[in-house]
Amino acid sequence: MQQWADNYGNFESPYICPWAIPYSLYIAPKKTTFKPNKAPLTKINGLAVHTTWIYQSLSGPACVSSCVNDWAGRGVGAHFIIVTDGTLIQVNPINRVANAQGGIANNFWISVEIQTRESEATPNQIMSAQFLFSWVVGKVGCRKALATGFVGDCLVPKDPMQAALAANAKRDYDPVTKRICSETTTKLNEAVMSSGLSCHYWLYPIKPCPGTPLLKQLPLIAKGY
Ligand SMILES: [Zn+2]
Repeated sequence: MQQWADNYGNFESPYICPWAIPYSLYIAPKKTTFKPNKAPLTKINGLAVHTTWIYQSLSGPACVSSCVNDWAGRGVGAHFIIVTDGTLIQVNPINRVANAQGGIANNFWISVEIQTRESEATPNQIMSAQFLFSWVVGKVGCRKALATGFVGDCLVPKDPMQAALAANAKRDYDPVTKRICSETTTKLNEAVMSSGLSCHYWLYPIKPCPGTPLLKQLPLIAKGY
Protein backbone atom coordinates (compact mmCIF):
# COMPACT_ATOMS: atom_id res chain seq x y z
CA MET A 1 0.00 0.00 0.00
CA GLN A 2 2.87 2.36 0.84
CA GLN A 3 4.65 1.61 -2.46
CA TRP A 4 1.42 2.37 -4.29
CA ALA A 5 0.88 5.63 -2.41
CA ASP A 6 4.48 6.69 -3.05
CA ASN A 7 4.12 6.04 -6.80
CA TYR A 8 0.45 6.89 -7.31
CA GLY A 9 -0.49 7.02 -11.02
CA ASN A 10 2.65 5.10 -11.90
CA PHE A 11 2.17 1.82 -10.07
CA GLU A 12 0.19 -1.26 -10.99
CA SER A 13 -0.58 -4.32 -8.93
CA PRO A 14 -3.10 -7.14 -9.50
CA TYR A 15 -4.20 -6.58 -5.90
CA ILE A 16 -5.02 -2.90 -6.30
CA CYS A 17 -8.19 -1.65 -8.02
CA PRO A 18 -6.98 0.65 -10.82
CA TRP A 19 -9.45 3.46 -10.12
CA ALA A 20 -9.22 3.40 -6.32
CA ILE A 21 -7.32 5.99 -4.26
CA PRO A 22 -4.94 4.78 -1.54
CA TYR A 23 -6.37 5.74 1.86
CA SER A 24 -3.09 7.30 2.96
CA LEU A 25 -3.20 9.87 0.14
CA TYR A 26 -6.89 10.59 0.61
CA ILE A 27 -6.59 11.49 4.30
CA ALA A 28 -3.21 13.23 3.95
CA PRO A 29 -1.77 15.24 5.54
CA LYS A 30 -3.44 13.65 8.56
CA LYS A 31 -1.46 10.78 9.97
CA THR A 32 -2.78 7.41 11.03
CA THR A 33 -1.12 4.46 12.71
CA PHE A 34 -3.24 2.00 10.68
CA LYS A 35 -1.21 -0.73 8.97
CA PRO A 36 -2.66 -3.09 6.35
CA ASN A 37 -2.77 -6.74 7.41
CA LYS A 38 -0.17 -9.27 6.35
CA ALA A 39 -2.13 -12.56 6.49
CA PRO A 40 -2.63 -13.85 2.92
CA LEU A 41 -6.10 -14.09 1.33
CA THR A 42 -5.93 -16.82 -1.29
CA LYS A 43 -9.41 -18.13 -2.08
CA ILE A 44 -11.93 -15.36 -2.71
CA ASN A 45 -15.67 -16.10 -2.90
CA GLY A 46 -16.78 -12.56 -3.71
CA LEU A 47 -17.45 -9.09 -2.31
CA ALA A 48 -19.08 -8.45 1.08
CA VAL A 49 -20.93 -5.16 1.68
CA HIS A 50 -20.71 -3.35 5.03
CA THR A 51 -21.87 -0.02 6.45
CA THR A 52 -19.35 2.41 7.95
CA TRP A 53 -22.13 3.49 10.37
CA ILE A 54 -21.00 7.05 9.69
CA TYR A 55 -23.44 9.78 8.61
CA GLN A 56 -23.29 10.60 4.90
CA SER A 57 -23.04 14.31 5.75
CA LEU A 58 -19.52 13.78 7.14
CA SER A 59 -16.80 14.58 4.55
CA GLY A 60 -15.19 11.63 2.73
CA PRO A 61 -11.70 12.20 4.21
CA ALA A 62 -13.20 12.53 7.71
CA CYS A 63 -15.08 9.25 7.21
CA VAL A 64 -11.97 7.38 5.99
CA SER A 65 -9.85 8.83 8.84
CA SER A 66 -12.46 7.76 11.35
CA CYS A 67 -12.55 4.19 9.93
CA VAL A 68 -8.80 3.60 9.72
CA ASN A 69 -8.15 5.17 13.12
CA ASP A 70 -10.84 2.98 14.64
CA TRP A 71 -9.24 -0.11 13.01
CA ALA A 72 -5.64 0.81 13.90
CA GLY A 73 -3.97 -1.63 16.26
CA ARG A 74 -7.01 -3.95 16.41
CA GLY A 75 -6.10 -6.16 13.45
CA VAL A 76 -9.42 -5.41 11.76
CA GLY A 77 -10.35 -3.37 8.70
CA ALA A 78 -11.81 -3.63 5.21
CA HIS A 79 -10.40 -3.72 1.70
CA PHE A 80 -12.38 -0.75 0.35
CA ILE A 81 -14.42 2.24 1.50
CA ILE A 82 -16.90 4.09 -0.76
CA VAL A 83 -17.58 7.58 0.59
CA THR A 84 -20.76 9.60 0.01
CA ASP A 85 -19.69 11.14 -3.33
CA GLY A 86 -18.82 7.66 -4.67
CA THR A 87 -15.02 7.96 -4.39
CA LEU A 88 -13.48 4.50 -4.00
CA ILE A 89 -10.73 4.22 -1.39
CA GLN A 90 -8.54 1.13 -1.00
CA VAL A 91 -7.21 0.25 2.46
CA ASN A 92 -5.91 -3.32 2.10
CA PRO A 93 -4.65 -5.10 -1.05
CA ILE A 94 -6.99 -7.93 -2.04
CA ASN A 95 -4.37 -10.62 -1.43
CA ARG A 96 -4.48 -9.87 2.31
CA VAL A 97 -7.13 -10.78 4.90
CA ALA A 98 -8.83 -7.60 6.15
CA ASN A 99 -10.88 -9.11 9.04
CA ALA A 100 -13.98 -7.13 8.15
CA GLN A 101 -16.74 -9.25 9.67
CA GLY A 102 -15.42 -12.10 11.80
CA GLY A 103 -15.53 -15.88 11.66
CA ILE A 104 -14.07 -17.96 8.82
CA ALA A 105 -15.62 -15.60 6.25
CA ASN A 106 -12.65 -13.30 6.80
CA ASN A 107 -10.55 -15.86 4.90
CA PHE A 108 -12.82 -15.93 1.84
CA TRP A 109 -14.26 -12.47 1.19
CA ILE A 110 -13.18 -9.07 -0.06
CA SER A 111 -14.95 -6.30 1.88
CA VAL A 112 -16.30 -2.86 1.05
CA GLU A 113 -17.57 -0.38 3.63
CA ILE A 114 -20.15 2.04 2.23
CA GLN A 115 -20.56 5.38 4.01
CA THR A 116 -24.11 4.97 5.28
CA ARG A 117 -25.83 4.86 8.67
CA GLU A 118 -29.11 2.96 8.38
CA SER A 119 -29.51 4.92 5.15
CA GLU A 120 -29.58 4.20 1.41
CA ALA A 121 -26.37 4.46 -0.59
CA THR A 122 -26.33 7.49 -2.93
CA PRO A 123 -26.55 6.94 -6.73
CA ASN A 124 -22.79 7.68 -6.96
CA GLN A 125 -22.07 5.12 -4.26
CA ILE A 126 -24.19 2.52 -6.05
CA MET A 127 -22.38 3.17 -9.35
CA SER A 128 -18.99 2.94 -7.64
CA ALA A 129 -20.01 -0.31 -5.90
CA GLN A 130 -21.24 -1.73 -9.24
CA PHE A 131 -17.88 -0.92 -10.85
CA LEU A 132 -16.03 -2.46 -7.92
CA PHE A 133 -18.16 -5.62 -7.98
CA SER A 134 -17.64 -6.04 -11.74
CA TRP A 135 -13.89 -5.67 -11.18
CA VAL A 136 -13.99 -8.32 -8.41
CA VAL A 137 -15.99 -10.69 -10.67
CA GLY A 138 -13.36 -10.32 -13.41
CA LYS A 139 -10.55 -10.75 -10.91
CA VAL A 140 -11.69 -13.79 -8.92
CA GLY A 141 -14.31 -15.38 -11.19
CA CYS A 142 -17.15 -15.28 -8.65
CA ARG A 143 -20.81 -15.23 -9.74
CA LYS A 144 -22.13 -11.86 -10.94
CA ALA A 145 -25.20 -12.23 -8.73
CA LEU A 146 -26.24 -12.18 -5.11
CA ALA A 147 -24.57 -14.90 -3.03
CA THR A 148 -26.66 -17.24 -0.85
CA GLY A 149 -28.49 -15.21 1.83
CA PHE A 150 -28.35 -16.35 5.45
CA VAL A 151 -31.64 -16.68 7.36
CA GLY A 152 -30.65 -19.00 10.22
CA ASP A 153 -30.09 -18.25 13.90
CA CYS A 154 -28.02 -15.15 14.58
CA LEU A 155 -24.98 -15.31 16.84
CA VAL A 156 -25.68 -14.06 20.37
CA PRO A 157 -23.06 -11.72 21.83
CA LYS A 158 -22.59 -11.82 25.64
CA ASP A 159 -23.37 -8.13 26.08
CA PRO A 160 -27.20 -7.86 26.40
CA MET A 161 -27.33 -4.65 24.36
CA GLN A 162 -25.33 -6.25 21.52
CA ALA A 163 -27.48 -9.37 21.76
CA ALA A 164 -30.60 -7.22 21.33
CA LEU A 165 -29.06 -5.60 18.24
CA ALA A 166 -28.30 -9.01 16.72
CA ALA A 167 -31.90 -10.13 17.36
CA ASN A 168 -33.20 -6.92 15.74
CA ALA A 169 -31.00 -7.57 12.72
CA LYS A 170 -32.45 -11.06 12.29
CA ARG A 171 -36.01 -9.74 12.62
CA ASP A 172 -35.42 -6.92 10.12
CA TYR A 173 -33.13 -8.69 7.63
CA ASP A 174 -34.66 -12.17 7.20
CA PRO A 175 -37.77 -10.97 5.30
CA VAL A 176 -35.63 -8.76 3.00
CA THR A 177 -33.11 -11.59 2.44
CA LYS A 178 -35.89 -14.02 1.53
CA ARG A 179 -37.31 -11.50 -0.92
CA ILE A 180 -34.09 -10.50 -2.72
CA CYS A 181 -32.10 -13.78 -2.78
CA SER A 182 -32.86 -16.65 -5.15
CA GLU A 183 -31.05 -18.94 -2.70
CA THR A 184 -31.14 -18.74 1.10
CA THR A 185 -29.81 -21.06 3.80
CA THR A 186 -29.99 -21.57 7.55
CA LYS A 187 -26.46 -22.99 7.54
CA LEU A 188 -23.85 -20.28 7.99
CA ASN A 189 -21.16 -22.34 6.29
CA GLU A 190 -23.23 -22.56 3.11
CA ALA A 191 -23.59 -18.78 3.01
CA VAL A 192 -19.85 -18.30 3.63
CA MET A 193 -18.90 -20.77 0.89
CA SER A 194 -21.35 -19.38 -1.69
CA SER A 195 -20.22 -17.04 -4.47
CA GLY A 196 -21.09 -13.50 -5.58
CA LEU A 197 -22.20 -10.40 -3.67
CA SER A 198 -22.81 -10.88 0.06
CA CYS A 199 -22.92 -8.74 3.20
CA HIS A 200 -21.66 -8.73 6.78
CA TYR A 201 -24.80 -10.23 8.35
CA TRP A 202 -25.02 -13.13 5.87
CA LEU A 203 -21.38 -14.08 6.61
CA TYR A 204 -21.20 -13.40 10.36
CA PRO A 205 -24.68 -12.64 11.77
CA ILE A 206 -23.78 -10.78 14.92
CA LYS A 207 -24.83 -7.17 14.29
CA PRO A 208 -27.01 -5.03 12.03
CA CYS A 209 -24.59 -4.47 9.16
CA PRO A 210 -25.12 -3.29 6.37
CA GLY A 211 -28.44 -1.78 7.61
CA THR A 212 -31.87 -2.45 6.12
CA PRO A 213 -31.89 0.35 3.47
CA LEU A 214 -28.51 -0.78 2.07
CA LEU A 215 -29.46 -4.47 2.28
CA LYS A 216 -32.43 -3.69 0.01
CA GLN A 217 -30.02 -2.13 -2.52
CA LEU A 218 -27.79 -5.23 -2.82
CA PRO A 219 -29.59 -6.54 -5.96
CA LEU A 220 -28.79 -3.22 -7.66
CA ILE A 221 -25.08 -3.55 -6.82
CA ALA A 222 -25.05 -7.23 -7.84
CA LYS A 223 -26.05 -6.23 -11.40
CA GLY A 224 -22.56 -4.81 -11.73
CA TYR A 225 -21.73 -2.34 -14.42
ZN1 LIG B 1 -19.87 -4.86 8.79
